[in-house]
Amino acid sequence: MAAETRKRILTSGNSVLPWQKLKLTSNAQISGTLIIGYKLSCNVLRFFCYFRLYMLNIQSKLPGVGTTIFSVMSKLAAEHNAINLSQGFPDYACDPKLTDLVSKAMKDGFNQYAPMAGNTFLKEVIANKIEKLYNVSYNPDTEITITAGGTQAIFTALAAIINPGDEVIIFEPAYDSYAPTIKLLGGQVKIHELAPPDYHIDWDKVKKLFTPNTRMIILNSPQNPTGSILSEADMKLLIKLVSGTDILILSDEVYEHLIYDGQKHQSVMLFSELRERSFVVASFGKLLHATGWKLGYCIAPEMLTKEFRKVHQFNVFSVNSPMQQAIAEYLNEPDNYNRIASFFEKKRDYFRQLMSDTRFDLLPCKGSYFQCASYNTIGDEKDTDFSRRLITEFGVATIPVSAFYQKATDHKIIRFCFAKEDSTLEMAAEKLRNV
Ligand code: PMP
Ligand code: GLN
Repeated sequence: MAAETRKRILTSGNSVLPWQKLKLTSNAQISGTLIIGYKLSCNVLRFFCYFRLYMLNIQSKLPGVGTTIFSVMSKLAAEHNAINLSQGFPDYACDPKLTDLVSKAMKDGFNQYAPMAGNTFLKEVIANKIEKLYNVSYNPDTEITITAGGTQAIFTALAAIINPGDEVIIFEPAYDSYAPTIKLLGGQVKIHELAPPDYHIDWDKVKKLFTPNTRMIILNSPQNPTGSILSEADMKLLIKLVSGTDILILSDEVYEHLIYDGQKHQSVMLFSELRERSFVVASFGKLLHATGWKLGYCIAPEMLTKEFRKVHQFNVFSVNSPMQQAIAEYLNEPDNYNRIASFFEKKRDYFRQLMSDTRFDLLPCKGSYFQCASYNTIGDEKDTDFSRRLITEFGVATIPVSAFYQKATDHKIIRFCFAKEDSTLEMAAEKLRNV
């Protein structure tokens, strides 16, 4: 908010409450006394909230969990009018052909519940797409389920399988929903931590995490936040590890099309030994530049899909009907998804070029729409403090990568999202040159 507007609100009388005034003033304007008073009143308020919960006998299922880093950073970016390269979403419009198809679907009467497992045409289009891309066939009736985005698909797959005490192996840094979901279900999170610059998986160490309780491994390639990808060799090592076990796989492939430099996406679907034990999760948000639509899908062999749908039907039952119809018509033209890799590869290259005369060290980015960078040569403050300062002092919002580790491991790395207009990236780079 501009200083002038802020001042006007502050002096405009009784419509603004005292603590709101505090929020509206800049850090420099807040005196030490006010900060202490503010913190004190927050603590008193918090105490009363906890006291009320105690009186109601509510035990938090996720006591250590706060608001997601994506919401926190996007909110801070808005408050400080910073360029938002934090949360992963495009700042440009999706294809108008697609929004026209949604209007058409609404006019054509797709306004009541879709079938529980999803729009029949859309499931067929997805089955065709998978056949073309990976040369495998999934039955659209029994093996594909349309979900309210990737996150719901992940939640549902875990809820369908994980019993209290079951162990799930994840690779960190990891998308933030995995660990809390596992914990919510009474499962145990087993972590294999990856390190920059290439975040490669040490499969021998993964094997050491196996116990009789190991129920699932969550894969994510291309990976958020690191932009790393799994190779064919990784997949072969994984096959060796899981063969002869009853370990299932949840393969988060929401960035399957965002893969660069001529690399091939190594989907679990390409390997029969993995396919038969895998839930594969996809997101239309990433594929169609429409994260706000919150639509995705889950592909799994019939036996696994049966369990998935038992949960899905009581979780959301079915998802947005006109959009499913529109997406089906849109994706029926393979050109509409084949272009996406080169589109984002150009963005990645442009962003890296823009960043080349800043003091950030760019890590490799082989996939996804995230570029990680080390600020080791700039300073050694905590990545959470550094990214907060980038917003307040330099006007650019990013994500501190420690937020993707349960132990908040801090390698002094932050994540930029480059799914933005070129002009946005240019403005951000200009500001980042001052850091
Ligand atoms: N998995 C990963 C790795 C993600 O980055 C995201 C966020 N886009 C999701 C799953 C969830 O996707 P959706 O927005 O469709 O819920
Ligand atoms: N996947 C997105 C990201 O990593 C954000 C998803 C969300 O906000 N929940 O930025």
